[in-house]
Amino acid sequence: MMRLLGQKTGTCFQRCVGFDGLNALYALTYDIDAKHGTNYHERFKNFLLYIQENDYMSAGAMTDARGDRSLRPHQQKNPKLYLHISERRDDGIVVNGAKAHITGAINSHEIIVMPTRAMGEEDKDFAVSFAVPVNAKGIKFIFARQTNDTRRLESPLDAGNPKYACVGGEALILFKDVFVPWERVFMNGEYEFAGPLVEMFAGHHRANYGGCKVGLADVVCGGSHWLADAHGIDKASHILDKLTDMVTMAETCWSCSLACSYEGFKTPSGAYSVNPLLASVTKLNITKMVYEWMRIAQDIAGGKIITLPSESDMDNPDVGEIVAEYFAGKEGVNVYDILKMLRLIESMSIGAGLPEAMHGAGSPAAQKIIIARRSGIEKKRELAEIIAGIRKDEAFEKILGMSEEKYWQETKEKIREARMKICQRMTK
Ligand SMILES: Cc1cc2nc3c(=O)[nH]c(=O)nc-3n(C[C@H](O)[C@H](O)[C@H](O)COP(=O)(O)OP(=O)(O)OC[C@H]3O[C@@H](n4cnc5c(N)ncnc54)[C@H](O)[C@@H]3O)c2cc1C
Repeated sequence: MMRLLGQKTGTCFQRCVGFDGLNALYALTYDIDAKHGTNYHERFKNFLLYIQENDYMSAGAMTDARGDRSLRPHQQKNPKLYLHISERRDDGIVVNGAKAHITGAINSHEIIVMPTRAMGEEDKDFAVSFAVPVNAKGIKFIFARQTNDTRRLESPLDAGNPKYACVGGEALILFKDVFVPWERVFMNGEYEFAGPLVEMFAGHHRANYGGCKVGLADVVCGGSHWLADAHGIDKASHILDKLTDMVTMAETCWSCSLACSYEGFKTPSGAYSVNPLLASVTKLNITKMVYEWMRIAQDIAGGKIITLPSESDMDNPDVGEIVAEYFAGKEGVNVYDILKMLRLIESMSIGAGLPEAMHGAGSPAAQKIIIARRSGIEKKRELAEIIAGIRKDEAFEKILGMSEEKYWQETKEKIREARMKICQRMTK
């Protein structure tokens, strides 16, 4: 579904973060209840039904502002840099702080809040998860600026992807004394579950990147081939080679994404989750390969991708014909179509989609932490030790029916005897 939506929109379609939050909370609320005897899972299921029955969109709000990244939540001079519980009442909690970079926030119905990192006991008040409607009292949005956002107000052609805009419409969400009733609170200080919740959410979210970004790669590949054709270079061997590289990278990311689900597991809640190691590998590939396939798209498109005049010049009776003459491609191709395709590739390869591929679902170092933690390096050492003969090889001994030590002693003896025979033959 992610790849298909990427193919149909050519941009971020803003749905995944909320979905991933729902998936992670379904599993984690069950685990918290199992340990603490709380009833978060029941509350969460009621919320989920409400979302499904009304076909509502939820924004997933995990990232805190975090100020000095080297300090833990309770160590920050300004506690608002991590969203936190400032009051516990009989009917619910009151929260203050903010969530940063939240995709699709202003055009969602609900905000699902989750903690941003693993936490210790002193961070208890920051270990909080809940859902609130976007218009809850005390909530404010500050909308993000993007590279070519105002072009949409000027001209559909210049916008590049006028139907679906640039990226995800991110916003800083401020929470000032926001009241959350108990039935919408899914974590209230159970700090030891903050890390597992982040990891499970990140698993789902990182796996998704091998879907949506590959859908975009399909569009960029098609657009690059179209431009190569329009410019009469589509048969050149280096162009075909570059397009093949784009496809290879995209399908590598797609394979990674599929593998996350195929290698997924059933959580105690009954819901399935993805393989977290493979999910981090998927996202780490995305942080590099998206830049690489966009680099190729810019190579094939040529310098026009950033030197085109505006649509208003095309409409200008004095310069329009000149632009059409000098920005034309091969005969028979409408110059306006060339401009449309160049603008699409420009918006996809230069805009906010690139840093989104880098930082969305965590910066590369965050993926490497999970990869290192789950790499199973001890098991890999064991494999090498067995093959090198440093560690006992039980399977080998089972096949031989004797200890490995005895086998090698006998083998060495046989080699020695064979050598002796050869030497004797040579000295005769
Ligand atoms: C387009 C876009 C959409 C997003 N959508 C959402 C969303 O819908 N919901 C959501 O919750 N979040 C969202 N995010 C946030 C995303 O998860 C964060 O950007 C990401 O986790 C990185 O955090 P940061 O931006 O604060 O960068 P930083 O964490 O400041 O990263 C900058 C650099 O600092 C390094 N760094 C950070 N902390 C440390 C440390 N303690 N020690 C050493 N090095 C460190 C990082 O590895 C990186 O190299 C979105 C981000 C983008 C760009």
